[in-house]
Amino acid sequence: MRWIGEVLVSPGEGGVYNERMLGGARVWDPFRSKLSALYHAGTGIELVKDMRVLYLGAANGTTVSHVADYTESVYAVEFAPRPMQDLLEVARRRENIVPIMADATRPEQYAPLVEAVDLLYQDVAQPDQAAIAIRNSVFLKKGGHLILMLKTRSVDVRKEPAEVFRDTLDLLSAAGLTVQESVWLEPYHHDHAAIVCRKP
Ligand code: SAM
Repeated sequence: MRWIGEVLVSPGEGGVYNERMLGGARVWDPFRSKLSALYHAGTGIELVKDMRVLYLGAANGTTVSHVADYTESVYAVEFAPRPMQDLLEVARRRENIVPIMADATRPEQYAPLVEAVDLLYQDVAQPDQAAIAIRNSVFLKKGGHLILMLKTRSVDVRKEPAEVFRDTLDLLSAAGLTVQESVWLEPYHHDHAAIVCRKP
């Protein structure tokens, strides 16, 4: 990952979403991207050139574009038509993004399109977030990593965020994933946590 002083940047062509440029690289703002927030608030997983990524909840491709700047290929899954239009535009300008319009709860829909990946990134903000991640972990290589962005209020508004956090960690561990890091994304994203797991 490239830092210029305290600023995280990614090495790619700018103008994707009016992001700032610094030293010829794209500023990756932690207030706009939970993955950038993880690199600021915690450790995360180093993105490297030979990495293949399955990205669930691609939205309009803002974070996807930064991940693609660092990695070999990004399979970007999104099910809503409006953000998908923007994602297609981002993918048109970057050869290593494969946009897939599909429901992340049904990985069998896109299994024929996706190779085994080194990193599974999930940011779908759904009540069954852990279950979706576990179902998609079939695409992860042994030794590969999952980064789950947990929006605690989406899982259960009646429960305390800390309780939702603990329950999610238990579910991931029970599914055989090794939790490597878990961190709240304050002050960048309220009631959001990032969980990093390794597939043994
Ligand atoms: N990751 C994006 C970023 O950093 O730029 C933001 C993602 S936004 C919080 C969540 C996205 O997940 C929305 O675009 C939503 O349409 C999508 N989504 C929610 N449930 C989904 C599902 N089951 N399958 C595919 N996409 C889903």
